[in-house]
Amino acid sequence: MASQQQMKHALQQCIDAQKDELHSLSRDIWSNPELSGNETQAHDRLVRFFSRDKTWTVDSHYKLPTAFRAVWDLVGGREGALNVGFLCEYDALPGIGHACGHNLIAEVGAAAALGLKAALENQSELLQPVKITVLGTPAEEAIGGKIDLIKAGAFADMDLVFMAHPAQQDAPFLPGVALDEVIVKYYGKASHASAYPWEGVNALDAAVLAYSNLSALRQQLKPEWRLHGIIKHGGEKPNIIPAYTELEYYLRTPLVKDLFDLKAKAEACFRAAAVATGCQVEIIYPYDSYYNILPIATLANLYTNNGEALGIQFPEQPNNFSGSTDFGNVSYVVPGIHPFFYICTDALNHTEEYAVAAGAEKAQLYTLRTAKALAMTAVDVVCSPDLLRKVREDFSQAKLKQGKHLGGTDTSLTAP
Ligand SMILES: [Zn+2]
Ligand SMILES: [Zn+2]
Repeated sequence: MASQQQMKHALQQCIDAQKDELHSLSRDIWSNPELSGNETQAHDRLVRFFSRDKTWTVDSHYKLPTAFRAVWDLVGGREGALNVGFLCEYDALPGIGHACGHNLIAEVGAAAALGLKAALENQSELLQPVKITVLGTPAEEAIGGKIDLIKAGAFADMDLVFMAHPAQQDAPFLPGVALDEVIVKYYGKASHASAYPWEGVNALDAAVLAYSNLSALRQQLKPEWRLHGIIKHGGEKPNIIPAYTELEYYLRTPLVKDLFDLKAKAEACFRAAAVATGCQVEIIYPYDSYYNILPIATLANLYTNNGEALGIQFPEQPNNFSGSTDFGNVSYVVPGIHPFFYICTDALNHTEEYAVAAGAEKAQLYTLRTAKALAMTAVDVVCSPDLLRKVREDFSQAKLKQGKHLGGTDTSLTAP
């Protein structure tokens, strides 16, 4: 068996040799931004990319219309093969295209998978047989496509999972925050606001009281907790007592277990406003909760070492990341990492400037370096039963410490 160093060298050479094809892949996705759930051309482009090489078994439209799976399994489905997963995202944002750089996430996933395959080819004496699964995971920005894929069993036989997200800096681990979106509807009764106001039930008063209740609640919350919202519908005309109003709020906490507490407090505020005004209230969670990302210290340390060997300089104190990702839910199901990487711009994600940077030639060096560091980290783990054991221990410990709602996803609930 080749040494780990030789395997890491082989994967770097493979990624460098295919840099033009890889850039063309992400450039094509970038040039044609598609919104969450509608990524048909990105899906087709990635399916074609993996179908070029007949050693990949490719399933298009895998479990979701714009998801795909590509599997490299040289050991022919032998029992006990370690299944190493790489994730590709490829959805864009309304109006500003690939301003979150998901085209580069697709490129990193594809490049890292090709690299690991190159490292493992002709390594028949590996201590443990290995297969590689590339999963195309749509709709991260809008509805959490990975959560649907978890429910459909797409992660059920995966042992490790890797992806990386473009940001303003390199970081092996940032926790992300848990998130719930909530829609609140108040139903009152219309009446002439001047002639017969006593006949009405004012749904706008309920919405305003709810807004005020939540503003009062905010002062008593932990500093990292967030709730922010808008009144989406506030009535029709000043001379009609509003019969219907609607609020939309986001609730966020660093850990998903705290999200359930925040939801209970917020729901009390919404209901109190209904009681005070005599309205009916409907509380709707249209999507599953996004979970925080579980830390797997062993993988983060390996990624740091491999990244530094490639010239990545990790800041000692990375900026906090208070965004949310559906990879958090994956991290409760399969041990994995989701590092962030610099792409040669100071622009912030979700801006037009960031969209430009995500398509620029100069982002390529950073993107491919990240892919190499991910694949090198995978090599470390697949070559060392001890490290694999440690990763699994980290995973169990992290779940015990951080999650009382393990493995599953919160389902939507509606309260009258
Ligand atoms: Zn993103
Ligand atoms: Zn984003």
